[in-house]
Amino acid sequence: MMKKCTTHLLRDLRSLMRQLPNNGGSINAYIIPSDDSHQSEYISPTDERRSFISGFTGSAGTAIVTDKEALLWTDGRYHQQAEQQLDENWTLMKDGLPTTPTMSSWLVNHLSAGERVGVDGNLLSFQTWNPLNTALSSNDIQLSSINDNLIDLIWKDQPARKFNPIINLDLEITGKKIADALELIRMQMREKHSEVFVVTALDEVAWLMNLRGSDIEYNPVFYSYVLLTPNEVYLFVEKNSLPTGFEEHFRKNNVSVIIEDYENVEKVLKELINKSTGKVWISPSSSYALSALVPERKLHQEISPVCVMKSIKNATEAKGMVDCHVRDGVALCKYFAWLEGALNRGEKVDEMSGATKLQEFRSKLPKFVGLSFPTINGSGPNGAIIHYNPAPETNLPITLNDMYLCDSGAQFLDGTTDVTRTWHFGQPSPYQIDCFTRVLKGQISMGTAVFPIKVKGMFLDILARKSLWDVGLDYQHGTGHGIGHFLNVHEGPMGIGMYRPAVEDPGLQENMFVSNEPGYYEKGQFGIRIEDIVQIVPAKVQNDFNGRGALTFKTVTMCPIQTKLINKSLLNEKERTHLNNYHATVRDTLKPLLEQDGDSFTLKWLEKETEAI
Ligand code: ZN
Ligand code: ZN
Repeated sequence: MMKKCTTHLLRDLRSLMRQLPNNGGSINAYIIPSDDSHQSEYISPTDERRSFISGFTGSAGTAIVTDKEALLWTDGRYHQQAEQQLDENWTLMKDGLPTTPTMSSWLVNHLSAGERVGVDGNLLSFQTWNPLNTALSSNDIQLSSINDNLIDLIWKDQPARKFNPIINLDLEITGKKIADALELIRMQMREKHSEVFVVTALDEVAWLMNLRGSDIEYNPVFYSYVLLTPNEVYLFVEKNSLPTGFEEHFRKNNVSVIIEDYENVEKVLKELINKSTGKVWISPSSSYALSALVPERKLHQEISPVCVMKSIKNATEAKGMVDCHVRDGVALCKYFAWLEGALNRGEKVDEMSGATKLQEFRSKLPKFVGLSFPTINGSGPNGAIIHYNPAPETNLPITLNDMYLCDSGAQFLDGTTDVTRTWHFGQPSPYQIDCFTRVLKGQISMGTAVFPIKVKGMFLDILARKSLWDVGLDYQHGTGHGIGHFLNVHEGPMGIGMYRPAVEDPGLQENMFVSNEPGYYEKGQFGIRIEDIVQIVPAKVQNDFNGRGALTFKTVTMCPIQTKLINKSLLNEKERTHLNNYHATVRDTLKPLLEQDGDSFTLKWLEKETEAI
């Protein structure tokens, strides 16, 4: 990967830090988060400030620049990528390793009493601001929200924010009327004595309003806010982006919505705060700047009820998720069958051309909208870079001699997909087979788990790691994340992982959809990940945790897992049966669709890959 020279950028930034344009005085450290003000994982080019200043393009990571140093904190998924992208001005701080100090402890140890740390308060969530502020102020270091974003000031050709057309989703797709969702939220507002509820997360607005957009690549969302009072709904949006007939859309949803300009949210929120006698409910993951508008006595901070409601799919959404995974499975099989054939014919395929081919197969599917994230197509050593995106300077050929990891997904009108399969089209080594089998054992152990309703995912995580831990291996990422319904490929509030903060996690509940994706990565050699999306369903077991209720997972991803990479003697009878049953389901589900297509080539491949072991 190419390194960007950041010397002159850091010089410009430091000179602004010494003399803040509109904020008086100077700051000794400037924090550059990777967020926009909407808790988005992917952000628009306008908001890629941390990438601009550091050259590191991964989706997670925060930079701190002081007079002498420039540091970047990022987690295990991105350590290798950051090492390759940061130039000599930067120090990589490997988040998640016990020896790495947190940002706040680093600041406390490197700044002196009386010094000042600046950050754009729109880009830092309240829940990040608060503990940081406490840690710094107890050492007499001041944390200041700087209104002018310093990166924007030095970024000469910063792209302008784009507002793309918004689309209505029919009730046949969403399965809920906006009015019914609002009623449930208002019930909770009454319980919490709240008269104003603030929605800042873009996927929450899109879900609540039964609308979708395309302002952010891969995420079908649009720049917006919603403010809710006991009697009114305000939608803050670029008015020209609204679809024709949006009034009719809201009428069908039994609501009347007050449309306001996107920029007006602070102004209207201030008015509502002044008018209201009750509390103002705002999620702690909303920006510090917006939360700071609410006087402390009126502030109610709790996870947004929309976030929880959205994660539990209704019957229509659940059906859409299942259906789109079947269609997606057809494209995956066509691609992997084509790829194996091409390699065996000696044709040249590389990571980038392979990803393009897969997208071609997907784009022909009914209800296809776009990809849900950039395809992670990693051949050989690139497979070990957990969030790798092929680029011209790293593009490797996919060969008969290397392991090949393919993590991809799509947006459909009726759901979102995310799937990883790992292949070896030649002769895998015994070590690769051993690692793959251990990842698979973990994946099956998780996929067949029975657990009490609302258990937090962190307690299940070890099931996916045990077989790797047995031989001293592990992977540096979570095991499962929520996934949206024609929304973001990663969504909370639940998750399955070792590092997940448990505070806001409502636990695993029926009709949540999560991923099941253990892996193993051998740096410089190969990467393995097996990822399915699973639906949480009632478990049929003798007991039900004393009336609490028993749940389990049902796999909705439809794609073979390569049996050539399995050491059968490492699988027990239950695991073998589970895999064989899964493969029979995949075959029976996809066969009629391939027959309908007249695609006997892929069908033959499917039958080979789903043979019982
Ligand atoms: Zn995933
Ligand atoms: Zn994935």
